[in-house]
Amino acid sequence: MALDPINLAARLIQCPSVTPDDAGALDVLQGALEALGFACKRLPFSEPGTDTVDNLYARLGTKTPHICFAGHTDVVPAGDKSAWQVDPFVGNIHAQSLWGRGAADMKGAIAAFVAAVASYLDAHPSPNSSISGSISLLITGDEEGPSINGTRKMLDWLTQQGEVIDDCVVGEPTNTDALGDTIKIGRRGSVNGTITMTGTQGHVAYPHLADNPVPRLAAMVHHLSTSKLDEGSTHFQPSNLAMTSFDVGNSATNIIPAQATARFNIRYNDNWQADTLSAWVRARLDACAGLVDCEPASYELALVHTGDCFLTEPGPFVKQLSAAIHKVTNREPTLSTSGGTSDARFIKNITRVVEFGLVGKTMHKVDEHVPLDDIRQLSEIYRLVLQNYFI
Ligand SMILES: [Zn+2]
Repeated sequence: MALDPINLAARLIQCPSVTPDDAGALDVLQGALEALGFACKRLPFSEPGTDTVDNLYARLGTKTPHICFAGHTDVVPAGDKSAWQVDPFVGNIHAQSLWGRGAADMKGAIAAFVAAVASYLDAHPSPNSSISGSISLLITGDEEGPSINGTRKMLDWLTQQGEVIDDCVVGEPTNTDALGDTIKIGRRGSVNGTITMTGTQGHVAYPHLADNPVPRLAAMVHHLSTSKLDEGSTHFQPSNLAMTSFDVGNSATNIIPAQATARFNIRYNDNWQADTLSAWVRARLDACAGLVDCEPASYELALVHTGDCFLTEPGPFVKQLSAAIHKVTNREPTLSTSGGTSDARFIKNITRVVEFGLVGKTMHKVDEHVPLDDIRQLSEIYRLVLQNYFI
């Protein structure tokens, strides 16, 4: 049963599934998967104060080994539609590319994987009995949003059901310039921090009657942002701390303010874990408090960890994926851990996970589009992966 990945990708793009709306995208996908024999389970999740989000888990086969493709049908907003050359939710083909929101991130990759499964099954006349393992898709509608009612809750559900996945490929647009240039084998961790420094408000002409928190916080910001975290590691670049804001909110010129806050983000490598990094930040700030002559108690630190660092050591599966990429594109993919976080940060808790999809150049931008050949070639790469996986 041949399945055209371009056509399926276009049908997915036609559903304006801007998080948290599904807009029919999962129905389109489920229809295609059920036609291939997948058992599909919809998993809508919600919790107080959040939008309900629909998700889909589909599995073909019951045996091991079990390979899973993970991804998301939700997309970021199109922004100013008039700035686009085409309607972002039509799925036009123009100049040998497929255009529309989600073409690269990541409806094109989902369609490529489904077409790969169809093509793989074509070579196996009796699907359920001939696959010596299982293929599943774990598709969320909450990746671009708060990521509360999506992959994380699906993984809990999988664990409760006793579902065991051996290997997972996330279809994020990992390639920088050309299809096949990059596989992601890990991601850095991310933590957001807020430092609040408290003093005593007063008149600028009577500084001895006030306690100015601004210079103290400025010293802390300087101390923190000039401290080196590490030199990097085998698979990771050095960890990086970026100050993102310094706020006093003082509109008066004659008042020493009572409070100042600063915010920062750290992207960290596998030299760190959430707790060791938290301890490092606190120790730097305490040391600085001593230097600028303020009580450690005069500042408050809040840290929100949004994802741990993870690394999937390159093993046989990464080698097979690399070989498939080389065969189709003639490129040797770089094994990278750079870039932002993805749902792989959650999936790594239950299975080995790598990421490989389309080229990310236009993702989240106006005029998002991907070459038709890239979608076809990605589908062929996924098909080779499946073929080698079940030998
Ligand atoms: Zn994405």
